[in-house]
Amino acid sequence: MEKLYDVVIIGSGPAGLSAGLYAGRALLSTLIIEKEKAGGQIMQTAEIENYPGGMEGESGPTLVQRMAAQADHFGVERVKDVVTAVELSGAEKIITCQKETYRAKTVIVATGASPAKLGCPGEEEYTGRGVSYCATCDAPFYGGLEVFVAGGGDAAVEEAIYLSRFARKVTIIHRRDQLRAAKSIQEKAFKNEKIDFLWNSTIEEIKGEGLINEIVVKNLKTGELTSMKPDPNDGLFGLFVFVGYKPQTELFTDQLDNERGYLVTDENMHTNIPGVFAAGDIRKKVLRQVVTAAADGAIAAVEANKYLEEME
Ligand code: NAP
Repeated sequence: MEKLYDVVIIGSGPAGLSAGLYAGRALLSTLIIEKEKAGGQIMQTAEIENYPGGMEGESGPTLVQRMAAQADHFGVERVKDVVTAVELSGAEKIITCQKETYRAKTVIVATGASPAKLGCPGEEEYTGRGVSYCATCDAPFYGGLEVFVAGGGDAAVEEAIYLSRFARKVTIIHRRDQLRAAKSIQEKAFKNEKIDFLWNSTIEEIKGEGLINEIVVKNLKTGELTSMKPDPNDGLFGLFVFVGYKPQTELFTDQLDNERGYLVTDENMHTNIPGVFAAGDIRKKVLRQVVTAAADGAIAAVEANKYLEEME
């Protein structure tokens, strides 16, 4: 029979790692199940300026590496596996993964969110062939070339600024005539000579031959369609998509209360099932940031500990 853990944490972004740190430090037997590698979405962030006490030049990967090491230090086990089913309602929770099945007295769901898609023809086909959702991963491929960025939120504008370090020119394509991003981020982008804007516009289609070589942009005010092609000297360009995120909660929504997929908890991270907690970006909440994910994880672990004490 598999070991019965005090806490199984699903997901190893800042919420899961912070929950692991607090659970491990409380001497609970703790397992973190991570899909590929620790980190979650924040791994794709080149620079984190707003994590309190963060070091200058801090990136998603460096921060996550230290968070994971800190959890490891307190005896937390971490496994790479993919959860395929969960049974959360009993006193003993069953987490079925591709490689193993795990048993737990409490579960903390911290599976985060994944990038939303534009949903236009060609997007899937050219993902990895010129369409990217991660500037940190792919910006170096576009040194001296032109890139387009879809979106107008914090992610789109911050990543456009980052891309401008590599690319010759960055054009932000936004569906309205005002950015959603924080004013401080907007100011930096407006001052950046490499960054241009295409307002009131959406991408209707992505085309190419092996690699992307055309995007069709629609002006929402006039309905006019414009075909954007690479400079003949370049031969290719990049399209980076940052149009929000989708919660990764498909496995849980039949058992846990949610709104449009985001899990509903009370302020202490309790879901509708006793012994099951949620933390980080998968929660219905106002601010999705590393600092709030880490705080959620800490609260969830402390509450899991309380639940276990009450069960004894
Ligand atoms: P977001 O704030 O939801 O912005 C999404 C952007 O994409 C919006 O500008 C939206 O347009 C646009 N959009 C959505 N669907 C679209 C579609 N189908 N076609 C074209 N455009 C579309 O998402 P985010 O920028 O990814 O940020 C997510 C969360 O993380 C936010 O809470 C954000 O504050 C936070 N974040 C913070 C930082 C930071 O503070 N350093 C960095 C990154 C992310 P509209 O504006 O017209 O709705």
